[in-house]
Amino acid sequence: MYLKYSNYRVGRRRGKVLGKNSAWADGKNTGPLISLGVLLCWAAWAVTGFNHSVAAAPGVPEKEEKAESPNRLPTDITIRSFLLETNRLKINCPQQSYVLRDRTSSREIKRLPAGYACRLSRNQDRWDLTDRQGKNIWPADAPRAGEIEDIEVVPDPNGFIAVGVKKLNTYRGRLRLVSNAPDSFATVNVVDIESYLAGVLGAEMPMHWPRAALRAQCIAARTYALYYRNNNSLKDWDIGSTEESQMYGGLAYETQRSTETVHETSGLVLAWGPAGKEKLFPAYYSAICGGHTQDAEPVFGMSLAPLKGCSCPYCRVVAPPQCYQWPEVTLDKSKAQKLLLKKYPSLARLKRIVDIKIVQKSPFGRLERVKLTGSNGQESCLSGEELRNAWYTPDTAILSSCFELHDTGSAWRIDQGHGWGHGVGLCQYGSRQMARLGRDSVDILEYYYPQAVLLRAY
Ligand SMILES: [Zn+2]
Repeated sequence: MYLKYSNYRVGRRRGKVLGKNSAWADGKNTGPLISLGVLLCWAAWAVTGFNHSVAAAPGVPEKEEKAESPNRLPTDITIRSFLLETNRLKINCPQQSYVLRDRTSSREIKRLPAGYACRLSRNQDRWDLTDRQGKNIWPADAPRAGEIEDIEVVPDPNGFIAVGVKKLNTYRGRLRLVSNAPDSFATVNVVDIESYLAGVLGAEMPMHWPRAALRAQCIAARTYALYYRNNNSLKDWDIGSTEESQMYGGLAYETQRSTETVHETSGLVLAWGPAGKEKLFPAYYSAICGGHTQDAEPVFGMSLAPLKGCSCPYCRVVAPPQCYQWPEVTLDKSKAQKLLLKKYPSLARLKRIVDIKIVQKSPFGRLERVKLTGSNGQESCLSGEELRNAWYTPDTAILSSCFELHDTGSAWRIDQGHGWGHGVGLCQYGSRQMARLGRDSVDILEYYYPQAVLLRAY
């Protein structure tokens, strides 16, 4: 296990030297020190998909000098975060005027003043733009509403966009409305990655948790986002905004602490691979591993050294007891079937599901593979996570795939349930306890992502 760690000046703008002997790395040299110039040059090449030069010159990058103003974007790397799919949307920019434009031609459709709420909807391949009272405000001289595919909503500099169907949430950056069906469109927030991360961090981890845990979380979230940014570049968005990928709540979740943590770890990512050829990996994380983290292979189908399971004696100490070991759940078989079909309609071919057998289990009690048998004799397999995701509802709080399954005749009884989430990678409550014990963020990342390397992507 090794974790490269360089003594670059991440926090120069506040006059602090973070790194070796800094407040957040406790002075331990956990691996070879790499010169910043080499590191930056490497990062430009290895962390593919960045269309700007991150390695303009060795030394502290110019970007850090520019980051003096909190409103200035620290990087031109953006994340496209999917917010929702809908056929109508309320939009407002409370503080600045904003522009709606045709994404393809960049032609302006309409400029609206600060505080002016508009409504955009899409019906039969045609956009409609109305005011609060429902009056059509699509200008006669604008590109025709039926000929526009995607719309961008761009506030004037430093403006925020409030958007939603009923309740409005506020975001930095701009919006992209992607028409992927005649009567609906996807709403995507295009935002610089550091602002994005401030909105992730506040949604993923309580801000009163120790700094080391917050920093480890932030680096994992940055790695995760950049991995998907690189892998989804041909798609309409990079990443979702719910717990299915990573939570992102926009401006409402930004706090001074989340913003500080993002700045303190600016550009830092985890990577893995042969020395000099390390690549980003999806740095998964979950709330409570339940005593042992899970291999990524049975959950996500990828076998990587940093995503191998490891024992975690930490989360038990600080996790809410009812989440660390959650109560027994009894699931009526007809409801169990209904939930499975809702999530996986192809299971209808089994007719009535008469048996569910655990085929593969991790040594630490997580269901890795289950076999479903239908009343017509047909069989189908699901991963433990797929089963858990199908059965999870607010009433049936099956928090993880770590449980025992019993057939009671009319129902499935689920007991011995441990942990919360898929259990792969960093254990959030575990990292909280490690931080409380005085371990720094590098220790935490090294523990949960063995053989990973900490590098600067920008
Ligand atoms: Zn844990």
